[in-house]
Amino acid sequence: MPYLFAPPPVVALPVLGADTLFPVRRVYCVGRNYADHAREMGADTREPPFFFSKPRDALVPVAEGHVATVAYPPATDNLQHEVELVVALGPAVAELGRAGQDIPLAQALDAVFGYAVGFDLTRRDHQQRAKDKAQPWEMGKGFDQSGPVGPLLSAARAGHPERGHIWLEVNGERRQSGDLGQMNWPVAAIIANLSTMVRLAPGDLIFTGTPAGVSTILPGDTLVGEVAGVGRLSVTLA
Ligand code: MN
Repeated sequence: MPYLFAPPPVVALPVLGADTLFPVRRVYCVGRNYADHAREMGADTREPPFFFSKPRDALVPVAEGHVATVAYPPATDNLQHEVELVVALGPAVAELGRAGQDIPLAQALDAVFGYAVGFDLTRRDHQQRAKDKAQPWEMGKGFDQSGPVGPLLSAARAGHPERGHIWLEVNGERRQSGDLGQMNWPVAAIIANLSTMVRLAPGDLIFTGTPAGVSTILPGDTLVGEVAGVGRLSVTLA
């Protein structure tokens, strides 16, 4: 039967050194995964991991060496940056655990196709109001163009980075600086835990949280973020 209107386009990420694209299914994000950022948000530093989502079409795929332009979103007076390691799950995830559910910790990294650098742009004022009222975070986190993400570097090429500098500069000024080794819940633990709650599938992305130093950004600002051994991501706010 024909569709009533054209289906939405597939959202896909470029893969470094390959002529194929990685099609995205779901976008999960981990909250407060670095103790120093949890503290700056006024939270307990050793809670179990918790998750929220962004719509996949909130992603802004950015090709290698490009500077993406992202619209400053409406309805906020406090847009903030969060630089994050992004994990991309490949075809192997469907063979792990019970077809992507209840994946054992020791096998969790086998689910990873590759890694990228992403920005979890956040309308902090909306998020704070939602927290205060015990309401959902979506309008603070899942707005249009809230997830710029760079090209994927395959684990076959990069390995599985457990340590490495993660930083972000705004207009050349260092705002965030941390190390992947500071994660409360490392990548394997995130995958294993998330798979107890939802069936994970090829194409799923996981934003793994951000180190301390989140701050307000304004129209015209340029953000540059890097994860050592994974890549660099540059975005200008329109
Ligand atoms: Mn985040």
